[in-house]
Amino acid sequence: MHEMAVTESIASICLRHAERHGAKRILQVNIRLGELTGIVDRYVAFYWDMVTRDTIAEGARLHFTRVPVRARCNRCGQEYPVGQDLDLTCPGCGEVDSEIVSGKEFTVESIEIE
Ligand SMILES: [Zn+2]
Repeated sequence: MHEMAVTESIASICLRHAERHGAKRILQVNIRLGELTGIVDRYVAFYWDMVTRDTIAEGARLHFTRVPVRARCNRCGQEYPVGQDLDLTCPGCGEVDSEIVSGKEFTVESIEIE
């Protein structure tokens, strides 16, 4: 997967944000990670250590909130969880005509600075 690139992008978001607030150090970064992204949190943590070396984000803790995959049916409007098999059949009406509404997130929710 593309953990290196996404880790660089969240690191630069965090650093920009921290600098704007005059932070001395970034303590923790809270990340929302959708199950559908295929991003592996321990790889992100690995690259994080690399890309933040010698920055104020070095040593920051990464906290991941996993976001389950959910879909909404275009026929009946029901929202439902999607399992590992990614079967999008609506439990309400049995149709397969739905949109993924969550599970693709990879965003910085908040950061803790000092
Ligand atoms: Zn339906």
